[in-house]
Amino acid sequence: MTNCRKILTGKKIEVKINGVVIDKKNPLIIAGPCAVESREQIITIAKEVKKLGATALRGGAFKPRTSPYAFQGLEEEGLKYLKEASEITGLPVVTEITDQKYIEMFEKYVDVFQVGSRNMNNYTLLKALGKVKKPILLKRGMSSTIYEWILAAEYLAEFGNTNIILCERGIRTFDTYTRNTLDLAAIPIMKKETGLPVIVDPSHGTGRRELIEPMTMAGLSAGADGVIIEVHNDPDNALSDGLQSIYPIQFKKIVEKIKKFMESEIWIF
Ligand code: PEP
Ligand code: MN
Repeated sequence: MTNCRKILTGKKIEVKINGVVIDKKNPLIIAGPCAVESREQIITIAKEVKKLGATALRGGAFKPRTSPYAFQGLEEEGLKYLKEASEITGLPVVTEITDQKYIEMFEKYVDVFQVGSRNMNNYTLLKALGKVKKPILLKRGMSSTIYEWILAAEYLAEFGNTNIILCERGIRTFDTYTRNTLDLAAIPIMKKETGLPVIVDPSHGTGRRELIEPMTMAGLSAGADGVIIEVHNDPDNALSDGLQSIYPIQFKKIVEKIKKFMESEIWIF
């Protein structure tokens, strides 16, 4: 397996977001809604999650939805609102890019380019993002093996960008009780195999609000360097992923637990 990789061979690679290194002393806590729904919504939630301890802001502006009739995102307008929310709070922006034709546009507004699960195998996009200097959050494809995920990261590295943060977000299995099956073993495997930071996404990994806290802690116990969590002020009326979005009050408790866990230094890797 290792022979097929030239760059990501397991030697630790330091990844920074706006000059700040991601490590256990400074875990990445990305929070925000699934989608940017309005200027007011994203600014309100950005202020809230910042106050509660988030270290980066999430929110999709280009949404790859299963149904063509579902909310598709505010596109460039959404990116502008994210940028404004970032300027107000100081939080770096993490948001999904769905096509290489948007790279120039994203450069103006975004701190971390997210490659979503549906695009992990979009090699044209990966090659183009290899030329970008900013960090890439590379989610695992929902039906991708660990090996395919490793090689997707290798594409970014081979084309010039080793600023990669990996994200385990669950895979499809026979079980539909949860939205996906969160593959916790992938976390220590990916850390060891690639040397890159790995974070966990309990939101898409489970699809269920009540599972966010336990799966956050499970991910950290497995060695994750951070989390990405969907937080919404009014999840019942969210335009996407309301069932898995937590309330700010729940996020507060989770951040406290993350901090305690990291300070305890019982984490591995
Ligand atoms: C998201 O983070 O909003 C998202 C669409 O996630 P995924 O690509 O993991 O489905
Ligand atoms: Mn979502």
